[in-house]
Amino acid sequence: MKTLIDTISNSDGHWVGDGFPVRSLFSYNGDTKAVSPFLLFDYAGPWTFEPADGQPRGVGQHPHRGFETVTIVYDGEVSHKDSTGGGGTIGTGEVQWMTAGAGIIHEEYHSPGYSKTGGPFRMVQLWVNLPAKDKMTPARYQAITRDAIQTVELDGGTARIIAGELNGTKGPASTFTPINLWDLRLKADADVILPLPERHTSMIAVLAGHVTIDGKGVGEAEIARFSTEGEGVRIKADGDAIVLVLTGEPIDEPVVGYGPFVMNSEAEIRQAFDDYNSGRFGAVAA
Ligand code: MN
Repeated sequence: MKTLIDTISNSDGHWVGDGFPVRSLFSYNGDTKAVSPFLLFDYAGPWTFEPADGQPRGVGQHPHRGFETVTIVYDGEVSHKDSTGGGGTIGTGEVQWMTAGAGIIHEEYHSPGYSKTGGPFRMVQLWVNLPAKDKMTPARYQAITRDAIQTVELDGGTARIIAGELNGTKGPASTFTPINLWDLRLKADADVILPLPERHTSMIAVLAGHVTIDGKGVGEAEIARFSTEGEGVRIKADGDAIVLVLTGEPIDEPVVGYGPFVMNSEAEIRQAFDDYNSGRFGAVAA
């Protein structure tokens, strides 16, 4: 079995634009080796937005280069538009896997429909690093709908497989390096053993409820981080719980991040700013 190394939490929230009340549970400003190939984990919500007229809340046009953003919507809806000509709405239970690669400019807002009705909002945005050889891959995104995500029955719950594989069921996301991303819904008193791969960075994020792992309690907006050695983790749910399991093969390369860009050197960061400021990231269609 893997051993529990530590738990990560952050009581200081901040707003991303005016639409996303976020707690950053880890970021590339911390120990990047400890979380590789992941770079950042923002937990937005839970929050209840009042109905609003006019421009939906969110964050306007901004660039990214050198990694992928994975947006998982649990409650509410997020609409996006980008410089590749892409756009759409990520509904409840859906996922957007966006490869920023060589560069993208996008905007992220509450959907017009959700904005009008308001209600509960909860999402995760995970940043996944790209190996140096793929950092300048063309930008693209995968819109992963509810129907595309298969469910595995567990003893006392379910796992929706977004990426990777669990008990022979594969996730729809195409990834550059080996990654597992599973959306678990556990019922009170569930006691499950998950087979997590040897040599993978392995983390379990509790988004709602409370679980016990290795005798230690892990509560809402807390991440449990495990050893790369070993092949499994046992989770007991103390009540109904929503848990996100993330594992990935570490990328053993330097990480240099600044704002929306994550590269391997400072020279590449300067180049990213230069390319962005010179209009080489393209533009979002009006
Ligand atoms: Mn963004």
